[in-house]
Amino acid sequence: MSHHYDIAVVGAGIVGIATAYYLKKLSPALSVVLVDSSQPMALTSAQSGENYRNWWPHPVMTAFTDRSIDLMQELAVDTNNLINMNRRGYVLSTRSSDIDTLMSELEHGYSQLDGNSIRVHSNAGSATYRKPVSQSWSDAPSGVDVLQNQTLIRETFPSYDTEIKTVVHIRRAGAISGQQMGQLMLDRFKHVGGVLLSAQVDGITAEQGFTLQTDQADTAITAGRLVNAAGPFINDIAQMLGTSLPVTNSLQQKIAFEDTAKVIPRQMPFSIDLDAQQIDWTEEERQLLAGTEHSWLTKEMPGAIHCRPDGGDNGSWLKLGWAFNDANAKPTRLPELMDEFPEIVLRGAARLNPALKAYYGQLPRAMHHYGGFYTLTDENWPLIGAMDVPGSYVAGAMSGFGTMAACAAGDLCARVMLEDGVPAYAHALSPQRYRDQGLMNEVKALSQRGIL
Ligand SMILES: Cc1cc2nc3c(=O)[nH]c(=O)nc-3n(C[C@H](O)[C@H](O)[C@H](O)COP(=O)(O)OP(=O)(O)OC[C@H]3O[C@@H](n4cnc5c(N)ncnc54)[C@H](O)[C@@H]3O)c2cc1C
Repeated sequence: MSHHYDIAVVGAGIVGIATAYYLKKLSPALSVVLVDSSQPMALTSAQSGENYRNWWPHPVMTAFTDRSIDLMQELAVDTNNLINMNRRGYVLSTRSSDIDTLMSELEHGYSQLDGNSIRVHSNAGSATYRKPVSQSWSDAPSGVDVLQNQTLIRETFPSYDTEIKTVVHIRRAGAISGQQMGQLMLDRFKHVGGVLLSAQVDGITAEQGFTLQTDQADTAITAGRLVNAAGPFINDIAQMLGTSLPVTNSLQQKIAFEDTAKVIPRQMPFSIDLDAQQIDWTEEERQLLAGTEHSWLTKEMPGAIHCRPDGGDNGSWLKLGWAFNDANAKPTRLPELMDEFPEIVLRGAARLNPALKAYYGQLPRAMHHYGGFYTLTDENWPLIGAMDVPGSYVAGAMSGFGTMAACAAGDLCARVMLEDGVPAYAHALSPQRYRDQGLMNEVKALSQRGIL
């Protein structure tokens, strides 16, 4: 059987699905096929922590994720919140009261928002700080609250280390169900005539459109245009086209477990410990580690470890993550996880939430340890737009933000392809940005990349 489509999208993770969905939404008459070798949403998209935020070191990424949050809110409104969107915010905490650098990063990242978007609270009884009591996204505040009063911090975040002196509370942030969101867009895509095809793409010929060679001998797919949304394998697809993309892959892991000892308040927002730390090993453990290939675990580790309650106010699970691994790796479909990671992330997270020490050496048996690849560019911005083979596009390099940014990525890729209402950030997120030396110098000068 031979099928011809206007557009073939390779990869039915959250990004490929969103791209196919917005292509059909913007131009219903297009014939679009979504091709994946396995089940939709089963690779990286199944490993996501499902958190979202509009906090970034550069206003381009703030605008891009703000657009995505707008689109997710549209889906939530449309479906009576089938995507389980909530919004208690992201809390960045530090033991430092000198926050000049943090403030200038916030001001830069939010520079396109109105002047009242960053509010500093130095009094215990601040009348303007809204505590994250409700999980509802629809009545949550916007902007950022900076808390610099330890009484206010203790009262609002009673489980935190008492040494925390500053809390930055990002308000347009929370969690969604990425799986529900992917399924919703996929169902809608199919409902309007979009085609989902199960096939492994093994080769591509780019001649008068694209011919996909697949493992399905009886199915030949040709398409006028092609979107590469193959997640960790975007470079494999690029190479089939005779080109390449400037991305690397690094394995990141998480754990989830039931908080049987109820040590974390269910109302605690997604909480990040910004400070570098030495992991809380006993002296004996430290000595044992020192003589092994894991001796690096006894040295100073980077900050940005995170913890959040999972499953809503009536749930009982926690998720912990720490994206400390920056080693480049060749991506595989079944990544090899580090056996020690659960205890490492637990000890690291116990610095901000000391009551987690109750689980040292005894995480619940049903603990879930999982991981996948962050596919990323040096500057940790995505690649969305035309590749250098005419008619081919990429929507990828979504690092640790692909769930939250999928809608904006799909919408952007579709708008670029259809030349319809292309947003101002399109150039900055396209593969063509590397030719813009001014922009690249600006991005390289940023003190952090927003990797969590
Ligand atoms: C541990 C972890 C935690 C994360 N937490 C968050 C978070 O809290 N918030 C957030 O926003 N993001 C998070 N992310 C990032 C997010 O999960 C990813 O950015 C996103 O899932 C990437 O989606 P994708 O569609 O690009 O890739 P994938 O989901 O990997 O989809 C790519 C698809 O392409 C298919 N494919 C590849 N090659 C071929 C081929 N040759 N032929 C056919 N099909 C092919 C694959 O089978 C796959 O289904 C996290 C990621 C990890 C690893």
